[in-house]
Amino acid sequence: MNKCLLLFISLAIAYLNPIFAAPPPAHSTQKKQLIVIDGGHGGDDIGAKVKNLQEKNLALQLALLVKQALHAKGYRVILTRSRDVFLPLPKRVAIANETKSKVFVSIHFNAFKSPQPSGIEIYYYNKGAKERQAASKKLADIVLARMIATTGANNRGVKTGNFHVIRETLMPAILIEGGFITNPREHASLSDTSYIEKMARAIAEGIEQYLK
Ligand SMILES: [Zn+2]
Repeated sequence: MNKCLLLFISLAIAYLNPIFAAPPPAHSTQKKQLIVIDGGHGGDDIGAKVKNLQEKNLALQLALLVKQALHAKGYRVILTRSRDVFLPLPKRVAIANETKSKVFVSIHFNAFKSPQPSGIEIYYYNKGAKERQAASKKLADIVLARMIATTGANNRGVKTGNFHVIRETLMPAILIEGGFITNPREHASLSDTSYIEKMARAIAEGIEQYLK
């Protein structure tokens, strides 16, 4: 076989083999980004509790649904816990830092001694690396706006907080307080699976918008 024919054959193979096909558009590779979702509490650490609602269960339920929604968008997701187990805070941070996740989102629910307060608030850590502060605030703003628009919940705003998981993580990090289980109306909403699904979609959309 002469060299020309060999070249022709190898080019033809390359053309026909999908491995050699043009790379997919940039956005589809970006979507392989890794996100860590942290369902707060777990195991003996129940968190807040009112009647049938326990914070640890709500947080896990929402975390699992956020994972599902992000998967559907093409992201890779790691949950710090995917069942009802206790996980120390440093372990949650280590999962995010060691996997070099792009974003860290911790999920909690609120409680108060009186039934009045209601609504969603999101915390970020406003000390340390300036760039991470700004990125975390941006993520918090976007996710909160989505959640409020989708659920119609009371907007308690983006706040700063010195919580272990958002302080010690190295990537943009937020802690969502998804509502007050001590408020009767919000307690009813949070008992409704379709409401939690709405929240999950909103959080996933917010993360996607932030990463774009
Ligand atoms: Zn909590």
